[in-house]
This record gives sequence, structure tokens and C-alpha cells, in this order.
Amino acid sequence: MPDEGLHLALTLFIIASCLREDERKAAIALVPFGLLCDLDSLFGVHRATLHNIFVIFIPIIIMAIRREKSKYLTLAALLLASHIFMDAFYNGVFLFYPFSQESYNLKFWFGLKERGLSALFTWIVPGKVGEIVYVTTPSPGVPQIPIIESGTELVVLILALLMFSLRFKVFFHQ
Ligand SMILES: [Zn+2]
Repeated sequence: MPDEGLHLALTLFIIASCLREDERKAAIALVPFGLLCDLDSLFGVHRATLHNIFVIFIPIIIMAIRREKSKYLTLAALLLASHIFMDAFYNGVFLFYPFSQESYNLKFWFGLKERGLSALFTWIVPGKVGEIVYVTTPSPGVPQIPIIESGTELVVLILALLMFSLRFKVFFHQ
């Protein structure tokens, strides 16, 4: 996965850009939707049980059942999608689980090469459910699970926290 710190930063940016300043309670309540997919590392199959495109439709189905549009449920679906597709670009996720046992690892590259500008978009299907190395290989001792892996991520997260707390006045109630 990209680190939780990066998921959190993106979540805060998305919420801050979609909600009004006086929607503080909803803003805070929506934050977990950018992170909760990773609960499947505790139960189920990691990167499968809660990392598939069907999960994204749950808030949309709730809206359909209630027969009313909800900005907050739409945003919840967007946050779930942002998490799943960020992970898909980083080691892959089982996008169509439980109907497909294949893990999709999207790749995107854009930049300069010796012949000029170059872009690449591919997806590879590395394996079946359970074959991702860190899911099944028991590792001795305490495995390392990075939360914030680099200074760049730290800066991005600090900026996101700052922007979110200023917009919704989390620390300065008025
Ligand atoms: Zn994840």
C-alpha cells in the first residue's frame, strides 16, 4: 500500500476541497472512509476483501435504496475509490474480488527519455488471491509496516493536516 500517511493526506485534501467550512462534523466523520479499506489486513484477504470496485458502490447503493442524493455518501464513495486506485498503482489489488482471483497492478510512467517525452500505461496481473508475498509469507519477528515512509510524504501530510484544520477550524472554534 502507499503508506497510511499518504492515504490520510489525500483524504484530507479531497474532503477540504469538497465541503464548506461550516461542515466540520461531516468533514471529520468522513476521514475514516479514506483509510478503512485497510481493515482487511486484520480480517479477510488483504487488498481483496475491502479493496475491490464493488466496495465503492456500497454508498451509491445506499443512496439508491433511500431514493435521495447525498453529497456525503458520494464523497464516501470517492474516498473509497481514491484509496483502492492508489493501492492498485502500488503493488496491485484484487479489483474484482470475490468474482475474480486476479490482482491488478496498474503502472503509469510519464517523463523524458533519450527520444523525448514518453508515457506508459499498463496493468499486469501478478497472481491469484493470497499470492502477494507479504500476505502469505509468515515473517519472523515484527513486520515493518510503514506509516510515513519519507520526508516528502511527511511534508505532504503536514500540509494536508494544516489545510484541513484551517478550513474546518478544527483547533480554533469560533
Ligand atoms: Zn489499502
